Amino acid sequence: MKPNHHLDDSTLLAYAAGTLDEAFSVVAAAHVAVCPACRNAVRAAEALGGELLDAAGSMAVSEDCRSKTFASLEQAGLYRLPVAAPRSSLPRALAPLLPVTDLDALSWKKKAPGVAVFDVKLPASAKGQLRLLRIGAGRAMPEHGHGGEEITMVLKGAYIDHMGRFAAGDVADLDEEIEHRPVVEQDCDCICLVATERPTRFKSIAARLMQPFVGI
Ligand SMILES: [Zn+2]
Repeated sequence: MKPNHHLDDSTLLAYAAGTLDEAFSVVAAAHVAVCPACRNAVRAAEALGGELLDAAGSMAVSEDCRSKTFASLEQAGLYRLPVAAPRSSLPRALAPLLPVTDLDALSWKKKAPGVAVFDVKLPASAKGQLRLLRIGAGRAMPEHGHGGEEITMVLKGAYIDHMGRFAAGDVADLDEEIEHRPVVEQDCDCICLVATERPTRFKSIAARLMQPFVGI
């Protein structure tokens, strides 16, 4: 697996700094685990962060600030640290969040003809929302924009849009201005892991999914 579509620089920096929302961190970790280019970029950003800290010198901080910082580092580490290539077909960052080890065995909820979703449960304190999306072979989505930040990683199958072909390991790191119209390839369903910024966005996604789908 050699991904052709990558996390953008701001996502990589936030991931390296441990400031990415949890839902996005799971997708970023899943991609970084299979992408040497992004892994190197994260290492470079971490090294740069270390140098900046060194250059800033030591500074007295309150005990409260110190313990909060360490607590948030620990939280960030939950998703960031396991970056080795996964042994099962599931990304290592995702596997512990699912009740089964086989994507086909998930209790998928049908949202529209050829479209099913599975909500991935994150800790109550987690920011962002994570969902698996399965779109049937040969299906096309109507062109749509995004109401906020969204990162999608293809886990299985492939789709094509104006930016190219997205296959297993590829990520679409989209901001709200980008509009696209993914079309799933004919040979098998496409399963994607999607992190979105706000829970309310899912209402709009659900509404969008109910729009008529066009088989090609
Ligand atoms: Zn990459």
